[in-house]
Amino acid sequence: MNRHSISIPVPLENVCIKDNFWGRYQELIRKEVIPYQWKALNDQIPDAEPSHAIENFRIAAGLSEGEYYGRIFQDSDVYKWLETVAYSLATCPDKELEKRADEVIELIGKAQLDDGYLNTYFIINCLDKRWTNERDKHELYCAGHLIEAAVAYYNATGKRKLLDIACAFADHIDSVFGIGEGKKRGYPGHQEIELALVRLYRVTGNERYLNLSKYFIDERGKQPYYFETEAERRGEKGNNGYFGDYSHKYRQAHLPVREQKVAVGHAVRAVYMYTGMAYVAAETGDKTLVDACRTLWENVTRKQMYITGGIGAQGYGEDFTFDYDLPNDTCYTETCASVGLVFWARSMQELEIDGVYGDIIEKALYNGVLSGISLDGKRYFYVNPLEVWPESCHQRHDKADVATIRQKWFNCACCPPNLARLVASIGGYVYSTGKKTLYTHLYMENTGHASLDGNDVKISQKTNYPWDGNVKIEIEPSCEAEFTVALRIPGWCTGAAVKINGEKIEISKVMDKGYAKLTCFWKRGSVIELDLPMPVRRVQAHPELRENAGKVAIMRGPVVYCLEQVDNSEIIADLALAEDPEFTEKYEKDLLNGIVTIEGKAYRSRLDNWDGKLYRDLEIEKTPVRIKAVPYYAWNNRGEGEMYVWIRQMGL
Ligand code: ZN
Repeated sequence: MNRHSISIPVPLENVCIKDNFWGRYQELIRKEVIPYQWKALNDQIPDAEPSHAIENFRIAAGLSEGEYYGRIFQDSDVYKWLETVAYSLATCPDKELEKRADEVIELIGKAQLDDGYLNTYFIINCLDKRWTNERDKHELYCAGHLIEAAVAYYNATGKRKLLDIACAFADHIDSVFGIGEGKKRGYPGHQEIELALVRLYRVTGNERYLNLSKYFIDERGKQPYYFETEAERRGEKGNNGYFGDYSHKYRQAHLPVREQKVAVGHAVRAVYMYTGMAYVAAETGDKTLVDACRTLWENVTRKQMYITGGIGAQGYGEDFTFDYDLPNDTCYTETCASVGLVFWARSMQELEIDGVYGDIIEKALYNGVLSGISLDGKRYFYVNPLEVWPESCHQRHDKADVATIRQKWFNCACCPPNLARLVASIGGYVYSTGKKTLYTHLYMENTGHASLDGNDVKISQKTNYPWDGNVKIEIEPSCEAEFTVALRIPGWCTGAAVKINGEKIEISKVMDKGYAKLTCFWKRGSVIELDLPMPVRRVQAHPELRENAGKVAIMRGPVVYCLEQVDNSEIIADLALAEDPEFTEKYEKDLLNGIVTIEGKAYRSRLDNWDGKLYRDLEIEKTPVRIKAVPYYAWNNRGEGEMYVWIRQMGL
């Protein structure tokens, strides 16, 4: 399997995270988030949006009476919870949690119909309407999340029950959709099942699932548009659903996928689809799909992505807009979209080795993903702005989506479980193996092992990343052998240095597409010392990105910083960094769970000499002040207040 992959991820169960930074988040997922989300799914959290998701399954299974409640894709919250549980169990066994998950799986099995169909909304409300509105009804989306949960749970526990449920549903879907006689030529209104089916194929070896995924990708965007055909069948001629004429772009169904050159529409749908395309290409070797993925990747990461790894610039449709349109205060940048960007980047690593993919994974993880969760694991952002003036968010309708404090739960609760499943599975993003090569994509303290041509290689990292760029890596093959250890040298880093067993390596001679490739005879006790200097940097945006003209963002290593009101008083927009800000940095262990803070020299205006005027003739007078920046992901953990990532720069 993975017939055309250049490299295959080392599975998360092989990697034990011991990292101060990620270990704490994983513990948070285990101790806070999984139990909290379980309560949320069972409506046991006072003052939070009700979910009803478990109750929907009970009603569908005939174990309870009542009406379906919630969004049409409420089932997916249960599946994402199960997937998170599976990843957690894979690295940290927990009998009680596994028992609870088994009970949920029993319940899901009871709700499934004899023909394999499984969706509580339609089972409870209107079974005769199933598969009549792929545009809006999310049946294939929910099926995709069921499949992902099933694959994860099978990998973690070896238990087949959920996998069998998922296979039965996938078989049913395969009998409904496709090119054969009597089948519907449809595809999902919310992509997700494409990537899930490839994962199901990889675990079962059943080509039917790969072919079905390929069918959904190949069929999408062909004329006549399926969403219009099925709307006519429902007697709704001319109805394109929400977003009207924009409907097809919103769902990336406006063109066949290979003809799509720029990212449009709903950002989460888009990146899930691109991930599915990359997975299918990894299995089939279809160069046209690889090219389409690369073109879209270039567009997203060079023209439509925030410095935080956030994507989806506007609330309308939770959409991509156009090149260089990246407003800081009305952006959408849904947590799920950054999570999906990480999925896509990892799938691209299977197609080609290039440090840019690891760079984007790292960028999204440390910034736009983690900003979605509070440090105590109890509150979440759906929208992740880069600039907040709370009063403006409260008063302006065009900022209605921008919450100024993280929420306990959401009516549309996609983000919290999505973030949880990614963090719980982070170990699966650290390494991959290719031909005689062990790739290290991320730096975090861990011990792991991987098989290279049958040689079991133990690998461990010791580091205090992302606060410190020193990484000590030990390589311990079970038998001495020549192979390559490839270390990603982050795109933000200049002056990286590597030593093997104390001997300095000329890094420029071993660099290849963002990786330092160290080829030698590795034996027990081999030690690599990697030094990634991480001075404070000021980053500017391309001039086309009009929003950020005259501004810089502060970064250190992979971490994007921001200025919060609590450290800098209000009117942060008025601050301007000195030409030489003389930055100082300090590790503050008691602040925001331990962070490196950055202080620097800036100027601000006086407020006391305006005589109540709104405007006056120019008078340049600036008062020097010290600013203090904290990591963007940790903002809004000390109450509501202004926050800015991009700040004015004197002399720019
Ligand atoms: Zn979301």
